[in-house]
Amino acid sequence: MVITQTLAGQNSVYTWCRDHRLHHRYSDTDADPHNSKRGFFFCHIGWLMHKKHPYVKEFGKMINMSDLQGDWMVMFQKKYYIVLYPILAILLPVWVPVYYFGETWWNSLFVSFFARYVCQLHGTWCVNSLAHLYGTRPYDKNLQPVESWFVSFLSLGEGWHNYHHAFPWDYKAAELTMHFNLSASIIRFFERIGLAYELKSASTDIVASRVLRTGDGSHYKMGTEKGRAAVTTWGPLHPLNPTYNTTLKAPDAILKPRELTPCS
Ligand SMILES: [Zn+2]
Ligand SMILES: [Zn+2]
Repeated sequence: MVITQTLAGQNSVYTWCRDHRLHHRYSDTDADPHNSKRGFFFCHIGWLMHKKHPYVKEFGKMINMSDLQGDWMVMFQKKYYIVLYPILAILLPVWVPVYYFGETWWNSLFVSFFARYVCQLHGTWCVNSLAHLYGTRPYDKNLQPVESWFVSFLSLGEGWHNYHHAFPWDYKAAELTMHFNLSASIIRFFERIGLAYELKSASTDIVASRVLRTGDGSHYKMGTEKGRAAVTTWGPLHPLNPTYNTTLKAPDAILKPRELTPCS
């Protein structure tokens, strides 16, 4: 898994996880590395071009990383990332078409590295941008992240983001796994071959009580007429739930900046 993660070229597992944990803990505040309250450009790509907000550094140090620090594979990749990245993310994907299909090095470099990398990165970044800005909040209307079938389509299942932030420990990162959720199937495959274990998932009761307690009413089964009527749709409809195709505006209350107080 560390090998496939290196192929994706999205920084080391250690750095990725630290930023991700920080993102969940302080979502959409100044301590969130890709704070979506700073606008679409910033949370999509701008955060990687910009100096980190001092809170990202300060609060980042408080994130518990002991589990990954105890994993030799993660620490090995972190230490040698500068060597592993060019070999696995550039050289290997460029070499395969040259060796096996007789492509030229230039063609292979532009398609297998540049084109692949650009498409893949934008798909992932849409989770931080689109899936925090445009969509419904059937599980928790107090969280800024939304459900977006379009982002799930682009990112192979990572766009059911209101659910993911409501139940971050659920391996599926979505209530359902049958539409645009290839990531969940891949994790289950790894479980079968013994590389993933103790997968946690929210029970239907837990999900139902959360939907009824904090949802915005747009849930495909447990939503309300009023909640669904508030949703405006665009583009082709999601096969299961038309309310996932939305440009629903976030309630003003959750768009307001949240004050942070340092804690452990
Ligand atoms: Zn997450
Ligand atoms: Zn998020």
